[in-house]
Amino acid sequence: MRGRLTVLSGPSGVGKGSVIAAVRARHPEVWVSVSVTTRPPRPGEVPGVHYHFVDEQGFARMAAAGELLEWASYAGFSYGTPRGPVEERLAAGRQALLEIELQGARQVRAAMPSARLVFLSPPSWPELERRLAGRCTEDGEAVSRRLARARLELAAVDEFDEVIVNDEIEKAADRLVALLQDTVR
Ligand code: 5GP
Repeated sequence: MRGRLTVLSGPSGVGKGSVIAAVRARHPEVWVSVSVTTRPPRPGEVPGVHYHFVDEQGFARMAAAGELLEWASYAGFSYGTPRGPVEERLAAGRQALLEIELQGARQVRAAMPSARLVFLSPPSWPELERRLAGRCTEDGEAVSRRLARARLELAAVDEFDEVIVNDEIEKAADRLVALLQDTVR
């Protein structure tokens, strides 16, 4: 039997990365896809662990060769999910988890209708505003652009199968793992 693909998505600033890090720390058996990106590594990011860092040509070659399950542009860089490792996991009857933004989640929905789409939601709009502003070192205009995009992304919640509210990272991670239980074999 094929395993099931789960996609975690949600607006910028909601804490997808922190929830995935908590899942990884507490449940090493959960397999999380490593994306390719043209974004340069941030301090502390390990190639092959957090991302596969590639240049524009490398990314374009993978996309043209059909090696990406989905891909999208985000804040000036390209991000995509390598198809091979995900297919291998699912063919072996195991779960696979992707942490991607909304456009990618929609492509996965179209390519794999059996995938489960999970939306990570902020506890409230003012809380998301607070988190985004706190994380943004840019000027006020950049914050307001990110907030406008977050508002659009929040409006897509109905396209998802499940909603997890990120009120506390550890609790949200536990809820995500509980959802994955029936796909882990
Ligand atoms: P960051 O640069 O902060 O690591 O990621 C920026 C955004 O890209 C986040 O919303 C993250 O979820 C998303 N992202 C990371 N990897 C992928 C991917 O493979 N595909 C898509 N569509 N989005 C991704």
